Amino acid sequence: MTNQDRALNITWILMDVDGTLTDGTLLVLPDGEELKTYNVRDGLGILLAHLAGLKTGIITGKTSKSLEIRSEKLKITELHQGILDKKPVLVEILERNGLTAQEVAYIGDDLGDLEVVKSVGFSAAVADAHSEIKKHSHFICQNPGGKGAVREFIEFILSTQEKWETIQENVKNLTPKKDLG
Ligand SMILES: [Mg+2]
Repeated sequence: MTNQDRALNITWILMDVDGTLTDGTLLVLPDGEELKTYNVRDGLGILLAHLAGLKTGIITGKTSKSLEIRSEKLKITELHQGILDKKPVLVEILERNGLTAQEVAYIGDDLGDLEVVKSVGFSAAVADAHSEIKKHSHFICQNPGGKGAVREFIEFILSTQEKWETIQENVKNLTPKKDLG
C-alpha cells in the first residue's frame, strides 16, 4: 500500500500540539502560564482541510487556554487536552464518529504519539520527530514541527484526493472576518 492509497481513505486528520503544531518551545511566565506560538501556514492548512470536507481533531498531553481559543477559531471538531494515554482517546473518537482507523490520519513528534501512530490508517512524523515515531510513520515530513509540517501533511492528503477544485468552490462562501479570524 502506498501513501497515496492511504491518503485516499482519509476523512479525519488528528494532530498532536507541542512539537507538531508548535516547535516545542514553551515560554513560561512568572505566574506559571505557558505561552506557545503557532504557525499561520498550519492554520491555513487546517482551514483548507475543512473546506475540502475533512474534519480535524487534537489530542495533546498539555492543557492551555490559548489552544482552546485557537482550536475554536480554526473550528477543530475534537479537542482533547491533558491526555497522557492517547490511544483510548483515539478509540473513543473512532467510536463516537463511526469511523474506521483507515479513515484517520495522525501527525505527531514524540513517544507519547507512538501508539496512535501505529493505530491509524495514515501516520506522519514531523521532520524533527523522535526516531521511533519516524520509524513507525508512513509519511516523514520535510518540515519540522511548528514550521509547516502539518500543512505539508494536509496538502499531501488534499492533493492526493484532488480536492483543490472543491476548496476553490467553498472559498467563495467564506466570510473573511468570521471564517479567517
Ligand atoms: Mg508532541
